[in-house]
Amino acid sequence: MRLAPSPTGYFHVGTARTALFNWILAKQDPEGVFILRVEDTDPERNREEWVEAIYAAMAWLGLDYTGPFRQSENAPSHAAALEALRAAGSLYYCDCTPAEVDARKGAGAPPGYDGFCRERGLARSARTALRLRTPDEGVIVVPDLVRGEVAFQASAIDDFVVARSSGEALYALANVVDDRDDRITHVVRGEEHLANAPKQMLLWSALNAATGLEVPPPVFAHLPLLVNEQRKKLSKRRDPVALEMYRDQGYLVGAVLNYLALLGWSPRGEDEIVDMATVVEQFRLEDVAHSPAFFDVRKLTAFNGAYVRALSPEGFAELCRPWVDPGEVPWRPSGYRPAWDEDHYDADLFSRLVPLIQERVARLDEVPAMVDFFFLDAPAHDEAAFDQAVRRDPLGRAVLEAAAGAYGALEGFTAEALHATTLELAGSLGLTLRKAQAPIRCAVTGRLVGPPLFESMALLGRERTRARLAAALARA
Ligand code: GLU
Repeated sequence: MRLAPSPTGYFHVGTARTALFNWILAKQDPEGVFILRVEDTDPERNREEWVEAIYAAMAWLGLDYTGPFRQSENAPSHAAALEALRAAGSLYYCDCTPAEVDARKGAGAPPGYDGFCRERGLARSARTALRLRTPDEGVIVVPDLVRGEVAFQASAIDDFVVARSSGEALYALANVVDDRDDRITHVVRGEEHLANAPKQMLLWSALNAATGLEVPPPVFAHLPLLVNEQRKKLSKRRDPVALEMYRDQGYLVGAVLNYLALLGWSPRGEDEIVDMATVVEQFRLEDVAHSPAFFDVRKLTAFNGAYVRALSPEGFAELCRPWVDPGEVPWRPSGYRPAWDEDHYDADLFSRLVPLIQERVARLDEVPAMVDFFFLDAPAHDEAAFDQAVRRDPLGRAVLEAAAGAYGALEGFTAEALHATTLELAGSLGLTLRKAQAPIRCAVTGRLVGPPLFESMALLGRERTRARLAAALARA
């Protein structure tokens, strides 16, 4: 098995699914090997930072592999393969420009090369590319464990280019040579590569014949396309497809892997929340669907919420550190820092907040806004909320004044006492508890939503709570 990503951009969620399915299949076979091969043979489109992004994504996913290998390292083998194919007569030189081909073919002709140079017997020159001589008739059958045997008309496959005029092997060749050298038995990848499979089969048998080294061709499995809500293929521009983004938003890797496993496959039984051990036990390529799989961010988020709630409080606190701990952390979401500094942060206090927030977030990046009022001198003011709950509410000020007084007189500053006294002051103003909480929450936390108010104020302490009520009254 192999994952063979090209370092041309962010690590796509589709690549993550391909990686996972390959990894699962390798795990199922006692002799299974899963390699990572970075297909870095296109200097114009490849960037070293995208290579690093591939390694980082694989490390985050926790999918272990053999390697990494770089396609560029195998250039001598690509050159040798080209030479063997040329010597065997499988290739020919061609000096046609695309414009010449188009002019010859005229409008309405099938796409691709017309074979003009096949019998011209050109020698190599600075202007000649090398093409593979492909069969004109018959069918090429691609064995595919997801789609069955897929037949392609040979006539539809043109004599494609395998080396540039510089002599350098092109990707189409390098990919097959590497798979052959690596003894890949199963090529599992996205459906967008299905159309390349017959070409790969042709090259594979040409290489077997030319080198005299008979390597059995791989079996393919093309995984269903990932589509968005509009049933359109996920696009880099339109859709959130970068795996890094999910990591930065505080999706848990377990939830992501679980969700990726369901893109084209489903476990036995009703429950879709399954761990990787179960997936490895149950997964079969034969059960993978043909129809496109909807990449449903809402469903992924719901999964994530379930995974977040299932964490131990200590595990949750630890995973939150990149979002809340301003000190040294092993990793942080890109471009993010907590809005408070180390002097204001209190890890102990945070662990006491965990029971108040763990149930209330679906993503870890929601945590800072839930706890910032503990670590900032003044809460982050949501002015619209303040207008609504305090300035424009006829009783907003009255509630704050009553609370400032009542909270000062409380014997013990506990959640229970705060609850009881707030209920009382609400009643005396003719308000429901909910109504009375809004201006208080806004004054103390800066926002209209957040963790349970009375527990929060108890943890914040009498002094800070009252100072915030006073500051809000001064601003109202
Ligand atoms: N390098 C190709 C890509 O990133 C993968 C081709 C393959 O899996 O055969 O799309």
